[in-house]
Amino acid sequence: MAAERENGSGSGRVSESGRAREHVRVAVIGSGFGGLGAAVRLRRAGITDFVVLERRDSVGGTWRDNSYPGCACDVPSHLYSFSFAPNPDWPRTFSGQSHIQAYLEGVADTFGLRPHIRLDSEVIRMSWDTEELHWVVETERATLTADFVVSATGPLSDPKIPDIPGLDSFEGKVFHSAQWDHDYDLRGKRVVMVGTGASAIQIVPVIAPDVDRLTVFQRTPPWVMPRVDRRITGPERWLHGKVPATGALRRGVLWGIRELQVGAFTKHPNQLGLIEKLASAHMKRAVKDPELRRKLTPDYRIGCKRILLSNSYYPALARPNVDVVASGLAEVRGSTLVAHDGTETEADAIIFGTGFHVTDMPIAERIKGANGTTLAEEWREGMKALRGCTASGFPNFMTVIGPNTGLGNSSMILIIESQLNYMVDFLEQLGTFGGRAAFDPRPAAVEAWNDHIQDRMRRTVWSTGGCDSWYLDANGRNTTVWPGTTGEFRRVTKRLDLSEYDVQRAPSGTATAAGTATASAPASAAATTPATAPAQSAAARSKRPEPVATAGEERS
Ligand SMILES: Cc1cc2nc3c(=O)[nH]c(=O)nc-3n(C[C@H](O)[C@H](O)[C@H](O)COP(=O)(O)OP(=O)(O)OC[C@H]3O[C@@H](n4cnc5c(N)ncnc54)[C@H](O)[C@@H]3O)c2cc1C
Repeated sequence: MAAERENGSGSGRVSESGRAREHVRVAVIGSGFGGLGAAVRLRRAGITDFVVLERRDSVGGTWRDNSYPGCACDVPSHLYSFSFAPNPDWPRTFSGQSHIQAYLEGVADTFGLRPHIRLDSEVIRMSWDTEELHWVVETERATLTADFVVSATGPLSDPKIPDIPGLDSFEGKVFHSAQWDHDYDLRGKRVVMVGTGASAIQIVPVIAPDVDRLTVFQRTPPWVMPRVDRRITGPERWLHGKVPATGALRRGVLWGIRELQVGAFTKHPNQLGLIEKLASAHMKRAVKDPELRRKLTPDYRIGCKRILLSNSYYPALARPNVDVVASGLAEVRGSTLVAHDGTETEADAIIFGTGFHVTDMPIAERIKGANGTTLAEEWREGMKALRGCTASGFPNFMTVIGPNTGLGNSSMILIIESQLNYMVDFLEQLGTFGGRAAFDPRPAAVEAWNDHIQDRMRRTVWSTGGCDSWYLDANGRNTTVWPGTTGEFRRVTKRLDLSEYDVQRAPSGTATAAGTATASAPASAAATTPATAPAQSAAARSKRPEPVATAGEERS
């Protein structure tokens, strides 16, 4: 990857108190795959006036936080990476956390992103200024304003520990899989693993040989398939380095195989019966005890919950020092953990592999839109966003990995890159309005999109498979998964269709100069232009309107 360097800096705008406040064209929240990808795409679009706000002291998101033993991707590395930053040196087909984290650090260096990144800058709140048509973003360190905000705070970045009665009375060690305590020595301890999701099944085989006893509290058994994991050989790496097309071909094959699987998940769940047989055989090969087999046999259709990949999970559960309690954790009484079925287990340490705040993302509580309500309030009945990106009442704002963009079987990087196409087109079209303008998705467009998604959802394995999963929100609606191929998602996010947006333009005189007072018009005076037909929106793209902002306004 050739180095791309250029430092972007914001201009000043004047706050109500008269103090100059930094203004940027774009503020990106988060520095995982989503935030770093957004930063690369902004620079490539010629936009250097942006910042990346990250709450922690380093970049990486998921891959910085999840350092638990055994942590690795479960989509092959050649697909689980940016298309614009191929890595011929992936060490394994499913690379481990440290390699993925190093890759993301490398992306930040290679693409010259460091000068834009503000670490230890948690976004505490942000609100839309209806007069100035910009976002006021408050971080731990400073307040800035931005024409456009990209929220890339991640769907799996805020760990969730269930509210277990008596947990406070537990005197041993307690931590979440995403907050691993590397100073705590598990050797010789009685350890309880709560949960049997994607993280738990990676942790269990690694710690089982070291601990005295390991008890796995399993609410629902997962379907587990073999993991075709192997070292990528020296000659393969050499070839991918010397002839990049071979790496691209490898990526293409991995992508194509996954695209072909989508129909079974979304339209023909009955076709998944054969996969269930393979998964059952996989379990029976490792587990001979009929009682344990019974506990580990799912009673729902494969794919309804995320299909997990492991060659070592079932052998670990068959070990003499490992027990499976086929019931959720109900209560903690001192050092005793009580399951819903009454089973009692003594423990020195509890590890929660219980997932994340997915359908109740904390960032949504912190974002206040044009109507003065938060995104969380708008989403109380369920998350929804136009094309998984934009929410009505939240102008010039988009979420990376927003509602109904998750995948059950392929790489989230494909989705992220599609959304970044949408981001770039959004900004380019916004740019054609010259000065300050705001695009707000029309409520009818958001509803129509969401109805369409929910209608398609009815046939999918996630709705018909007979399971309860983290894909569903508190109302039982699937607001997380994309019910189509990644190719289709790429198409529907290729361009921003302006007919789906209300366009608001600040009237003349609202432009501000760095360090000078603002002569802003009241919100009511701003012109709201409901966009019309797609044909007109195309015209709007090609025909640059009269600029509304004038002298002094810095744009890059
Ligand atoms: C253990 C694990 C394994 C996974 N494996 C795969 C896989 O194999 N394939 C796959 O496709 N997906 C996988 N995923 C999903 C994974 O989360 C996504 O693929 C991807 O990493 C998400 O990137 P992101 O940038 O959207 O979010 P994240 O990587 O979560 O990054 C979000 C960033 O935002 C920051 N942030 C959050 N709130 C604020 C705030 N208020 N202010 C400032 N910063 C904030 C966080 O600190 C974090 O750095 C996995 C997830 C986990 C947890």
